[in-house]
Amino acid sequence: MKLLPAAVAFLSLPHFAAAQTFSVGTARAERGRVATGHLEVPAAADPATSIPVVVVHGVRPGPVLAIVSGSHGTEYASIVAVEKLIGLLDPAAVSGTVILVPLVNRASFDQKVVHVNPIDGKSMNRFYPGRSDGTQTERASYLITKQVVEQCDHLIDLHGGDLDESLRPYSYWTKTGREEQDRISREMVLAFGLDHIIISADRPKDPAASRYLENTASTRGKPSITAEAGQAGTVEPEDVEALVGGCLSVMRYLKMLPGAAAMLQNPVWIESVLSVPSDEAGVFYPLVKRGTYVAKDMPLGYVTDYFGRKIFEARAPAAGVVLYICSVPSMAKGATIANVGVVRTGN
Ligand SMILES: [Zn+2]
Repeated sequence: MKLLPAAVAFLSLPHFAAAQTFSVGTARAERGRVATGHLEVPAAADPATSIPVVVVHGVRPGPVLAIVSGSHGTEYASIVAVEKLIGLLDPAAVSGTVILVPLVNRASFDQKVVHVNPIDGKSMNRFYPGRSDGTQTERASYLITKQVVEQCDHLIDLHGGDLDESLRPYSYWTKTGREEQDRISREMVLAFGLDHIIISADRPKDPAASRYLENTASTRGKPSITAEAGQAGTVEPEDVEALVGGCLSVMRYLKMLPGAAAMLQNPVWIESVLSVPSDEAGVFYPLVKRGTYVAKDMPLGYVTDYFGRKIFEARAPAAGVVLYICSVPSMAKGATIANVGVVRTGN
């Protein structure tokens, strides 16, 4: 494949972790060893926090892969998956280096608060690349950008359905328009193995306003992906295994582990995601399940006024697949009832 000189210059060169030691936060691993530590986010206008981090510094040189979860601290299957990966990775078998961050949003996890960091009320996947003088979420994002994103060649951000989201597994492929980078990230989502893949072409292009974690790596020229499995507070073995197995398969694709990656052959590509908000606050009743394929205008669920009277009915804005649907009766005005993915037809 012929690359334009500009594209070549933009693609980050692999770090190929040749150094004898590799440090992330207070975790400092010698070659062939595992180290644990923390990203210490200092106090400012609001309190300090301490984000656990692990470095698996393989015996042989190779790429640096970051695996991050728990930006939303109640997406439990993804957090459990990364803790499980930490126990599975043997540096004697690894070529390159793996940075694992199992739980970005400690306060959300500790207090069982959905979607945001309860310290400052911000989503911990919307304020990248962060700032050193901001609120806790912004300071944590800044440290993750500096310590994790800038030191890696590839990044996998793991999510899932939150406590109030009944979600079917899927991943995101971010199209940056840079051919070689997009080829590698496409092969990473195929190696990861979740059979529904959202094509994400509308993410910010400016590395200084990247908003999302994966996009922070992608806008810095590092082929990266996001994957989601698990839902509604559950930790089902099949969801955890999908995330653990997906990360291991991507490591095989990147030649960080021996063996061939199992590449997905016929995924469902989602070309757009339509969010269906509720026009009313009330009690929500779903009419379809996660993963259901719906026709345009098919009822997705309805909202009542606490007396059993229907005050709002949500319908599918287009034909597609229900990527997730609200899993609890609590419904606020303007909150999301469901996300419907429109399937790409043809090639
Ligand atoms: Zn999430």
